[in-house]
Amino acid sequence: MVIKNIDAATVAKKFLVRGYNIDPKAAELLCKSGLFSDDIVDKICCVANGGFIIEKSVVEEFLRNLANPKPKPEPKPKPEVEKKINEVKASNSSLKVIKDITGKSSCQGSVEDFLMYFNSRLEKLTKIIRSRVNTTPIAYAGKVKGNVSVAGLVNEVYERGDRCYIRLEDNTGMITCVATGKNAEIARELLGDEVIGVTGVIKGSSLYANRIIFPDIPINGNGEKKKDFYMVFLSDTHFGSKEFLEREWKMFINWLNGEVGGKKSQELAEKVKYIIIAGDIVDGIGVYPGQEDDLAIKDIYGQYEFAASHLEEIPKHIKVIVSPGNHDAVRQAEPQPAFDGEIRDLFPKNVEHVGNPAYVDIEGVKVLIYHGRSIDDIISKIPRLSYDEPQKVMEEILKRRHLSPIYGGRTPLAPEKEDYLVIEDVPDVFHCGHIHTYGTGFYRGVFMVNSSTWQAQTDFQKKVNLNPMPGNVAVYRPGGEVVRLRFYGE
Ligand code: FE
Ligand code: ZN
Repeated sequence: MVIKNIDAATVAKKFLVRGYNIDPKAAELLCKSGLFSDDIVDKICCVANGGFIIEKSVVEEFLRNLANPKPKPEPKPKPEVEKKINEVKASNSSLKVIKDITGKSSCQGSVEDFLMYFNSRLEKLTKIIRSRVNTTPIAYAGKVKGNVSVAGLVNEVYERGDRCYIRLEDNTGMITCVATGKNAEIARELLGDEVIGVTGVIKGSSLYANRIIFPDIPINGNGEKKKDFYMVFLSDTHFGSKEFLEREWKMFINWLNGEVGGKKSQELAEKVKYIIIAGDIVDGIGVYPGQEDDLAIKDIYGQYEFAASHLEEIPKHIKVIVSPGNHDAVRQAEPQPAFDGEIRDLFPKNVEHVGNPAYVDIEGVKVLIYHGRSIDDIISKIPRLSYDEPQKVMEEILKRRHLSPIYGGRTPLAPEKEDYLVIEDVPDVFHCGHIHTYGTGFYRGVFMVNSSTWQAQTDFQKKVNLNPMPGNVAVYRPGGEVVRLRFYGE
């Protein structure tokens, strides 16, 4: 919508809230053009190329291009990978990939990419916070009398005495929030780089918090969805490792085929319709120093062939969804795309490949699959959390509505134009792996599962005192019961 009779100061403010300063002459030019709209502001910010001051020349050129648009380049053909995914999707209408980076990555790692990435994170999460509380841009918070709420990215948290200070930043400015009592306790558990809201009163140049607001998920999640089929959750199979548990895997396959257990167990197996595997399908090559000594198969394709031959044993009426992890042969930085064609072709037809993270809709049940590398980072920041209760860490992830809040920890993040790690849609099921322990729980109606491993303790894990819980399988009926099966140590 074109806004008529606008003055240069208002134009400047429109740019300011988007994190840009506009030269007064450039603002004047925009006013006179009679073409001013919010849409145009967004477009000019896009062509500003990371410069924070928008010069008159930028606006002149923009208006010129608007009058004589350049011919659009021919659209590029879609990459092979994406086409393949769609083909598989079409063959089974009960499974839809809602969101996944596969075939869409665009980042080069430039400064502009990082700016866009963090802007996307801020924008998406602020929107969620705004659905619960009215916020004021940080630059204008100081002018509000009485209670004011702001939302921003946590830049820094520090303590002085029993007070906790939070430096909060949005694209208009930065403010120091002071937290005491219960709020200080909450502030101490902030991870950095997450987006929160703070409500409080301004004194001097600081905001004295009376409430810290996480984006969080609604109390009842998405509401209950009752289904008559079971989903099985696996991860960290580590095919190719010397410690891969062949015997236990075989027992699991026998169970799936209704060959072990009593009548009840067989009935359960009969109703399994989906198996989801959340990463670290193979052990990989060169993941940590000295890994060669731990490998039974030293060739990466050999490892995937071995993996595929084991997934081949799964009954064909079961749909298998495979997502990669940090040991797999895809880029390390998250979000990770699905395996490339050569590896996918090794797997049977009932296997669907998705990225990490991936958001899939299974007969109306929304499942968020994430390998879970950030769990290491979060446990190292919040002392009350541990590897023995992964579901408690997953709860913190849901509260922050971000899969990997900490930037610059052990989880490498790719600065995509859009932050794929924001949990925009509330899932019904949240599935992680990575830490090789087992845990399930519910948080505000969302079923959380961390799904063990099929690798026994390695020498490296022994050295660093990591105690895996292998061979545990979570079986879940949406809206119903959770069953834990143990194939290890029985
Ligand atoms: Fe793993
Ligand atoms: Zn892992």
